[in-house]
Amino acid sequence: MTSLTVPLNQPGKHFGHIRIPHSADDSAWGHVMIPVCVINNGTGPTALITGANHGDEYEGPIAIRRFMGVAEPSDIQGRVILIPTLNHPAFMAATRNSPIDSVNMNRAFPGSPSGTITQKIAAHINDHLIPEADLVLDFHSGGKTLDFLPMAISHILDDAEQDHRCATAARAFSAPYTARLREIDDTGMLDGAAERAGKTFVTTELGGAGTTNAQSAEIAYQGLRRVLAFHGIFCTNYAPAPSRALDLSDPTGFHFAEHRGLFDPQVSLGDTVERHQRLAHIYHPEDLQSVPKAIYAQRPGLIAARHVPGLIKPGDCAFVTGTDTGPAGFP
Ligand code: ZN
Repeated sequence: MTSLTVPLNQPGKHFGHIRIPHSADDSAWGHVMIPVCVINNGTGPTALITGANHGDEYEGPIAIRRFMGVAEPSDIQGRVILIPTLNHPAFMAATRNSPIDSVNMNRAFPGSPSGTITQKIAAHINDHLIPEADLVLDFHSGGKTLDFLPMAISHILDDAEQDHRCATAARAFSAPYTARLREIDDTGMLDGAAERAGKTFVTTELGGAGTTNAQSAEIAYQGLRRVLAFHGIFCTNYAPAPSRALDLSDPTGFHFAEHRGLFDPQVSLGDTVERHQRLAHIYHPEDLQSVPKAIYAQRPGLIAARHVPGLIKPGDCAFVTGTDTGPAGFP
């Protein structure tokens, strides 16, 4: 049976695991162990902070590890539940999906206690930890195949009061960009599980390419501190940083490759492009005399994400363009 080895309701700073039975060839009565830290002090809201929902995204795990290294119970009013590597098997394999069952954690919610290992992790989060939380921050970056402008994201929600809470929390993160997004289909996502439970939910895209850098890691760490400070959970003065508002709600901003070959981008993250502007060439891998195929901008806007690997294939997301709508205010 899945269990949490760390107390949720005891004052102090506690380290432990979500422990999930996993009988494998190399461990007959073995378990998958997801590391957890809970810091609990006094009465106040609870924040659930998760990284490596996808195993090849690193800003979240770094921010959470930095925070748990410095935060003591006296710094906290309420409770933080810190899970730096939610899909720990994927994190250890440096893969997006779990190497055990090939399941994408962010398509596994609400999970199943009797399902595969990733579904079991999702079920524990959904059934036991999300209900404890007022605020859920789930860190993402682009992974090995995408790279993003650094942004905190809230979803456009039908409930106006919850929508306002989530948008305010995303702005409080103060990433260089604060984005608004309506998921076309949130089936299986942690995002939807937390939102349907009425929680204040924020996610991020903070870089990618299967690595991190000093800037993106610092944005993640400062954003985590700011969100917790804004909600009164982390006892430090809250100070927002400037942020640009980014509208990603237009589905025509998503540009998918239709050809296979060598990817030759003509634009960079943060560039402003016109409609019909050429964004990339794709060269046929073997036919040296063929004319390269082009990807053209379907709408004007800002390059918010791009494909990373040097090779591309039909169906890959090549670019995402959004609209910079000016300085992001507090909603
Ligand atoms: Zn992700």
